[in-house]
Amino acid sequence: MFLYCIDSDKGLMFFKCLFSREGNSPDHREAITYGQLLGQVCRCSNTLKQMGVRKGDRVAIYLPMIPELVYTMLACTRIGAVHSIVFAGFSAESLCERIMDSQCSILVTAGKRVADVQGSKLKKNLKNELVALVVNLSPVVFPVVQTPWDAACDVCWEEVMGQVSEQCEPEWLDAEDPLFILYTSGSTGKPKGVLHTVAGYLLYTSLTFKYVFDHQPDDVYWCTADIGWITGHSYITYGPLANGATSVLFEGIPVHPHVGRFWEVIEKYRVTKFYTAPTAIRLLMKYGLDPVQKYDLSSLRILGTVGEPINPEAWHWYHEVIGQKRCPVVDTFWQTETVRDAECQSRMSTFPFFGVEPTILNEHGEELEGEAEGYLVFRRPWPGIMRTVYGNQERFESTYFKKFPGFYVTGDGCRRDKDGYYWIAGRIDDMINVSGHLLSTAEVEASLTDHGAVAEAAVVSRPHTVKGECLYCFVTLKDCREFNRTLVDELKRQVREKIGPIATPDFIQNAPGLPKTRSGKIMRRVLRQIARNEKDLGDLSTMADPKVVEVLFNHRCETAS
Ligand code: AMP
Repeated sequence: MFLYCIDSDKGLMFFKCLFSREGNSPDHREAITYGQLLGQVCRCSNTLKQMGVRKGDRVAIYLPMIPELVYTMLACTRIGAVHSIVFAGFSAESLCERIMDSQCSILVTAGKRVADVQGSKLKKNLKNELVALVVNLSPVVFPVVQTPWDAACDVCWEEVMGQVSEQCEPEWLDAEDPLFILYTSGSTGKPKGVLHTVAGYLLYTSLTFKYVFDHQPDDVYWCTADIGWITGHSYITYGPLANGATSVLFEGIPVHPHVGRFWEVIEKYRVTKFYTAPTAIRLLMKYGLDPVQKYDLSSLRILGTVGEPINPEAWHWYHEVIGQKRCPVVDTFWQTETVRDAECQSRMSTFPFFGVEPTILNEHGEELEGEAEGYLVFRRPWPGIMRTVYGNQERFESTYFKKFPGFYVTGDGCRRDKDGYYWIAGRIDDMINVSGHLLSTAEVEASLTDHGAVAEAAVVSRPHTVKGECLYCFVTLKDCREFNRTLVDELKRQVREKIGPIATPDFIQNAPGLPKTRSGKIMRRVLRQIARNEKDLGDLSTMADPKVVEVLFNHRCETAS
């Protein structure tokens, strides 16, 4: 593996007539035309080819929200390589795990943005595998440390890009050839490499972009997601570009350098279609009307929301304050695996997109008619659905099709109302949706038990006013270990380092014992209720030792650890 390095300290951008790039600082902006994009993508394609990348090879990309990220992903597509983008907020270890799983031959990253300890640890790890690696963490959120340049394997973006041609013939691919791998959390803890293919994915992202956002030639579209997630893949890169849209590529965060940043960007570029997540809305709501009223939002025509169920308060604020009651709000439910399942205008519920056939099952797998509540499943596949878990077809089948044979199981709970609208209730498996990022409780538990003081850990969700849900962790310590502030800080650091800052627990509670069934299974339902301080625990007859419950209530964390 080579390190393919971009000096990303060039400032920010705005994709115009294609992309306006708006950087972390409002002074950093740039307009990129479709013609310029093509030139950059071809240069990058030629560079990758020169470095030995061929059709079907996997390329890992670990970059912040800069145009080079788009150039690289499209360059992979152009030459038939399969990109595997890892969200830049993941830790070195998480990146390493994903690179190994998909056997990437090259990592494209930003060399000047490296977390030192993790960077060198990772570099060492991967060197053992005959690969080299540097970790890039976005400076918006993380400290920046220079990483040493390794001339034996590191290649500088600026140097090589200038030496290659601006023309590159595209590789012809079969409709079902792989396009990309994107990792999502798995209930066993090990992330799953969701594989999408060329034609179905592109057809679906371009079609859904066009219809869901009613795309018009004069639109300026802005999706605030990160390209490291499926929303960014689909609705920053592929969907808008396939429609020739003008869009904003935003590197910053909603509260830097001030809490009106989103609204300022909307005014600056006269954004017409705005797509964000409930967690961002909840965050910005807290600052009241002043930061919004300073800006002219009259260009807005449609608002979108994605990533997690939107609560009524956030929905009303979005509709009334941001959309000024003029703009329909499209709620778009979908998954890394499925690419666009449903959307609905101006209600907090959804209706299936054409071609998608949802249904609701009860615990026994029986289909429920009319008004109903239960497991959300899909009856038939559609072009944008994943094709497999990379390198593990058996896991694909068992994760999505085993529980209810004949249906694709989303893992979400859902209610259908009398008008046929679907209200997504959230995950009903061992996944927790923190600020729209799906995390596996098993993965967090594994990183807690990796600490020498922890004998056992159980992680559940607890409601959070901004993040939607947050992590509440119960830890049972080994004999003679003391539960104190230092240990809590160490455990939080450990999870951050192993998974990434998005997984940092909000609560860590001492659990001298965990509620278990007689067969030794942890009763997560009970732990969730303890975390939420719900005293009515219902039937505890299957619990081996009901006394642990009282102890856990006594040790409850009222406020974040
Ligand atoms: P991911 O694969 O990381 O994009 O996460 C997919 C999960 O996010 C879904 O299974 C849902 O639990 C949740 N989700 C995404 N969009 C919505 C939405 N609009 N409403 C409710 N939940 C959503």
